[in-house]
Amino acid sequence: EYADISLKDIDQVAKSSFPLCMRHLFDKLKEDHHLKHGGRMQLGLFLKGVGLNLDDALAFWRAEFSKKVGLEKFEKQYAYGIRHNYGKEGKRTDYSPYSCTKIISSTPGTGDHHGCPYRHFSEENLRAALGRMGVNSRAMEDVIDKARNRHYQLACTLTFEALHGMPCDAGINHPNQYFSDSRKILQ
Ligand code: SF4
Repeated sequence: EYADISLKDIDQVAKSSFPLCMRHLFDKLKEDHHLKHGGRMQLGLFLKGVGLNLDDALAFWRAEFSKKVGLEKFEKQYAYGIRHNYGKEGKRTDYSPYSCTKIISSTPGTGDHHGCPYRHFSEENLRAALGRMGVNSRAMEDVIDKARNRHYQLACTLTFEALHGMPCDAGINHPNQYFSDSRKILQ
């Protein structure tokens, strides 16, 4: 078993072990200091799933959002949603992180950054994002080919294999599975 991640490790593990859908949300949050609702849900529940505890989650979102909307507005408008994701507000349901199927079938609108990049990015943006992740040009063509043929999870699996130099026989069916398989290899 591997340890849950803590706040001080998050930048490093985001680079090494987040699937592209979460890496994109993470980078956009750092860039814009904001994410719309769909992105906060998709990334927030994923982070809960990788073991970020509620206090660290609040600190993580607060650090970014307070740069944009200020501390007071963060506490008033956004902290509730984070506690809610952890089952501490409202009906106290313990919400589960989203699967690939759910993310792939979402319909991000203008200004949204959630969804699955293999499905929702233009080919040009997908190529650029894969390049930033470190996918080499030979693997890139295979990934793009799978995405073009609507095999989004296979495209993600090939990305995983290219970045880790290891087969992923089970295939990718959940962002948190991508993360834990990656940690098993890299730790
Ligand atoms: Fe995320 Fe799944 Fe899409 Fe990979 S296939 S980017 S894990 S939603």
